[in-house]
Amino acid sequence: MHYDVCVVGGGLAGLSSAYHLVRKGVNNTIVFEASDKPGGLLKSEHVRGFTFDTGGSHIIFSKDVDVLTQLLGFLQNNYVKHYRNTKIYYKGIFVKYPFENGLADLPPEERFECLRDIVMNYVRRRCEELPPPSNFLEWLEYVFGKAIARKYLIPYNSKLWKTDLREITLEWVGGRVPNPPIEDVMKAAVGLEVEGYKHQLNFYYPKEGGIESLASALADYIVSKGIRIVTSAPVGSIRKSTYGDSVKLYDVEGKVLASCRSVIYTAPINRSGEILEELLGGMAKSLGRLKSVPLAVIGLGIRGNSLPYHWVYFPETEVPFHRVAFISNYSRNTSPPNHTTIIAEISFPTQEALDKADEGELVDRVIEGLIGVGIVRKREDVIVRRVWRWRDAYIIYNQDRKTVLESVTPVLKTHGIFLHGRFGSWNYLNMDAVFKRSEELAKDVIAYISDSSRRNH
Ligand SMILES: Cc1cc2nc3c(=O)[nH]c(=O)nc-3n(C[C@H](O)[C@H](O)[C@H](O)COP(=O)(O)OP(=O)(O)OC[C@H]3O[C@@H](n4cnc5c(N)ncnc54)[C@H](O)[C@@H]3O)c2cc1C
Repeated sequence: MHYDVCVVGGGLAGLSSAYHLVRKGVNNTIVFEASDKPGGLLKSEHVRGFTFDTGGSHIIFSKDVDVLTQLLGFLQNNYVKHYRNTKIYYKGIFVKYPFENGLADLPPEERFECLRDIVMNYVRRRCEELPPPSNFLEWLEYVFGKAIARKYLIPYNSKLWKTDLREITLEWVGGRVPNPPIEDVMKAAVGLEVEGYKHQLNFYYPKEGGIESLASALADYIVSKGIRIVTSAPVGSIRKSTYGDSVKLYDVEGKVLASCRSVIYTAPINRSGEILEELLGGMAKSLGRLKSVPLAVIGLGIRGNSLPYHWVYFPETEVPFHRVAFISNYSRNTSPPNHTTIIAEISFPTQEALDKADEGELVDRVIEGLIGVGIVRKREDVIVRRVWRWRDAYIIYNQDRKTVLESVTPVLKTHGIFLHGRFGSWNYLNMDAVFKRSEELAKDVIAYISDSSRRNH
């Protein structure tokens, strides 16, 4: 069968691309998804009355009102709005998040150090006395001062990224980690209420069904418009077709899945060397140089109510997880009454380390950690335990990323293959950015298709 567009991957990027194509009148699209249901990271599992988001904590937010409205529109009335209540667990204290807005929660001596260093750095930056940073590690101290950087930001980021922070380029910082307004930090230090990271101060979450209900509502919509989503259909290779500008998609056994004029490719590009080998030739190997951080998500169903927070960050190395989300505080419908649904996230330095981690040991370490920080009272209160593993979760912005993407992206485009999504375009994108880019991409793809029609006639 011949299509205008084949979409590889039925996560948010693939589904929302198909959605925007439909809105622009292109219905001759098919989505191939490797797993048994669409959604990608946006999946939820329901176990004995507990709902777990298996891809880690996901909340819906956006600075872009139009994008936010469209995302919430898929959920119709199935969502709740929250005012963020998030903490950082530091030396036994639940400090308000972000840390620079929670200085009043620290003992006076530490509060002073943090305030002194951030103000001094602010002044020195203004006087051009500080040499500009050349990597993420240096940037953290440059902007936040030594005390905040060394107490929280460096330990937390080292724990999450499992990478030398000097290898992370400044490209990563651009727009994602905002510079804190210095006056707000001063207010925070003397105990006045101020909020930071305001773009997600208010956030939304599905009332029923966990975060998957967003992906399934979107999938249902595009299917109702005639788009086919084929599940359990991993694409094994993409090759040039003998017909005009088309390409052919094959499954892992080499059987033809479809031919099409254009492909929106959202599968993890770091693992796509073989799939794209014919189109990329010698360059295909370079895709393996793209690095990501693998993640284990540990879901626990707990008897009794726990803390009132939405999520908590844990910078200290003695605590096994870097973040814990209280999903039952996102929506009361994600646990039975008077129970708590928690997901803890642990990143790993390599995929081998993630694969090797024993499930029972992981769960035990997490429960011990939760008891240690006062989130769980006793082991017997944990009545449901689950573990999910993700080979790619966080994109590492290192020197290789730029070089590899700059070489492969234009070559693939000449074949009508458009890289997209968090792992397809190897870009740290949240849901709103994925959705927005899908709309822009739909325009590019339509332009490509009409150009190719002209070429072939
Ligand atoms: C831990 C974590 C927390 C996050 N929290 C938030 C949050 O709170 N808010 C927010 O807005 N964003 C959040 N995000 C980001 C959000 O998850 C992503 O923006 C979004 O889900 C990316 O969708 P995607 O389609 O690009 O990738 P994916 O969801 O990974 O989808 C890719 C799909 O491709 C499929 N696939 C792979 N190989 C093949 C193949 N060969 N053939 C066919 N299909 C294939 C996969 O099975 C998968 O379904 C978070 C991400 C992580 C990792």
